[in-house]
Amino acid sequence: MTQENKQIPRILILGGGYGGLRVALTLQETLGENEAQITLINKHDYHYQTTLLHKVAIGTLSARKARIYYRKILNPRKITFIKEKVLEIHPTEKRVICSRSGYCYDYLVVALGFKPETFGVKGADKFTYKLSSLNAALKLTKNIENKFKDYTLTQDYNDLRVIVCGTGFTSIEFAAELATQLGDLCEICGINRDVAQVICIGRSERILPVFDDKLADIATQKLLKLGVKLITNAKVVECKENSVIVERDGIQEEIFGNTIVWGAGVRGSDVVQNSSLQNKRGRINVDPSLRSFEYPEIFVVGDCAEVKSKDVIHAPTAQLSAQMGDYVGVYLANLLRGKKNEKDFKFIHRGTVCSIGHTDGVGVVFGKNLQGELAAFMKNTIENRWLFSIGGFKMVFRKGQFRYRTSN
Ligand SMILES: Cc1cc2nc3c(=O)[nH]c(=O)nc-3n(C[C@H](O)[C@H](O)[C@H](O)COP(=O)(O)OP(=O)(O)OC[C@H]3O[C@@H](n4cnc5c(N)ncnc54)[C@H](O)[C@@H]3O)c2cc1C
Repeated sequence: MTQENKQIPRILILGGGYGGLRVALTLQETLGENEAQITLINKHDYHYQTTLLHKVAIGTLSARKARIYYRKILNPRKITFIKEKVLEIHPTEKRVICSRSGYCYDYLVVALGFKPETFGVKGADKFTYKLSSLNAALKLTKNIENKFKDYTLTQDYNDLRVIVCGTGFTSIEFAAELATQLGDLCEICGINRDVAQVICIGRSERILPVFDDKLADIATQKLLKLGVKLITNAKVVECKENSVIVERDGIQEEIFGNTIVWGAGVRGSDVVQNSSLQNKRGRINVDPSLRSFEYPEIFVVGDCAEVKSKDVIHAPTAQLSAQMGDYVGVYLANLLRGKKNEKDFKFIHRGTVCSIGHTDGVGVVFGKNLQGELAAFMKNTIENRWLFSIGGFKMVFRKGQFRYRTSN
């Protein structure tokens, strides 16, 4: 960060995902050019919608459409964007170390997002694909395509079997998206569709614990109709290169498949975990203003923060992260202008929709259960709303999701 003018408060934002980007854009909208020296650091020069990574992984959304370059949405006169990997946070020195240089701050916003949590399951780090970034999703697409092509030579059925560890949101969206595309993929490779299989393994009794029994049951029926095999009440105890070992009722079973995807959980960032900031698995417990209890000049938003309402920890979501980002943006602007911040952060849960392919889904919006095309429509509306919040109608028209109806 250029540090020519020491009087101007320096705000350093680490991570340009849902949380960090909303902080940056709120400050950009609110503050004048000389009110703060704002810097956003991210390891890529683009933002992507994590909530659409399952589509990138199956190839139903192109990487080009998924990338939103920061230069298109940030005003360089107000925000300096730096492409760097954050390595260390030194709160006592008010300094952050990145791959090329160090940066000092007066206020720090930590918004470094999540990392897949493998709960120490043997082989899960090494042998599974994760939906953790755009590049990781692209790696998975390539692998699935290659395995299906390989099958025509190897005739190894396991090349056509994709095992998904997890029956939560991420895993179900991915499994359903893949199942809806299997027909096309098999046709391209000249393979009988009935041979390919998607298997989802989950520890709980039912899938999608975020929803009630009724919605979870509807989702189960939809997945079964798509040919997804669901294995519930099963604990994954080991992942190998070509199989997964699960334990059910004390009995172990080996399930074979040459592509294994891990979607069974997330934790906070490694950078946070390795810092001297008090944290639990990379997540910092924050006060009602989303500040660190130890260092009030440090704000934490998104999946790196542990936020509670009435002692219940909120599940990390894009919706929560964006609302935290908005709150911190306003809070910082007020702070800089000497205005009092009177309100604590309050999460407004507007709804959650899980897509089941392009044209189907289940969800809850403003307390009402939805399913089918209406759910798919709402899912697209949520995605487009995010695009609108970062780039207005122009961004929605360029990058938006519009197809939600079946052609028949
Ligand atoms: C496949 C999938 C589907 C999901 N679907 C939904 C959904 O439908 N609805 C929903 O509400 N939530 C969903 N979530 C959860 C949601 O995506 C996260 O809660 C949200 O992305 C968290 O926002 P964030 O700002 O904390 O982190 P992120 O959006 O992950 O942003 C973190 C940013 O920090 C950058 N970064 C990380 N480490 C470094 C580093 N060391 N140096 C520099 N930059 C770094 C990253 O590149 C990224 O830009 C989904 C998650 C996944 C994985």
